Amino acid sequence: MASLRETILSCQACPLYRERNLAVFGEGPENAPLMVIGEGPGAKEDELGRPFVGRAGKLLDQMMEQAGLSREKNAFIANIVKCRPPKNRVPKKQEVQTCFPYLEEQIELVNPKLILLLGATALKSYRGTPLRDKISDIRGSWEKENNRLVMATFHPAAVFRNPRYKPFIEEDLQAIADKLKETAAG
Ligand code: SF4
Repeated sequence: MASLRETILSCQACPLYRERNLAVFGEGPENAPLMVIGEGPGAKEDELGRPFVGRAGKLLDQMMEQAGLSREKNAFIANIVKCRPPKNRVPKKQEVQTCFPYLEEQIELVNPKLILLLGATALKSYRGTPLRDKISDIRGSWEKENNRLVMATFHPAAVFRNPRYKPFIEEDLQAIADKLKETAAG
C-alpha cells in the first residue's frame, strides 16, 4: 500500500496532474470491510490531499456515523480519479481509464467485502460502460461481483441540490451497515 501511495502521489500519467495541488490517495483501515468510492477530489481534497473532507465529505461522515460506519473504523474512502479535475468537471474517459488501475490495485489490497459507489459518474466509471438505468432506479440494490457485493447510491453533494436525496443515502448506508454485521456474523 505504501509503494502504491508513493506512485499515486507523484503520478503524471494523465493531464489531471498539471493542475492538481495534491493527489488524493484515499484513507481508512487497510483491511476495511467496506470501500466507499467517489468520483474525484474537490477543492478542499486537492488542498489537503485527503478524500471527502469538504462540505459533501462532512455530510457523508455524519450520515455514515449515524449508520455506525466510519473511515477510522470500517471504511476505506477512495475516488475513481486521484487528482482534481479542473473546476470539478466530470473526469474524461481517458483520465478514468488511465487512473482506474490504481483503484483496482487498492481494491485488491484492501479486499473489501462491500463496495459503495457514490453517484452516477463513480458507478459508470467503475462499470466501464454507459449507464442504462438512472441511479435513482438502481440505488440501494446489491450486485454480486466475485467475492464481494457492490451497491451504488447518490453522491452526498446531490443533497445540497436537492435535500430529498438524503433519506435515500441514509437508507443505503444503513443497509450497508446491516450487511456488514450480517457478513461478520456469518
Ligand atoms: S488522475 Fe490518476 S492517472 Fe491522472 S495524474 Fe492523477 S493519479 Fe495519475
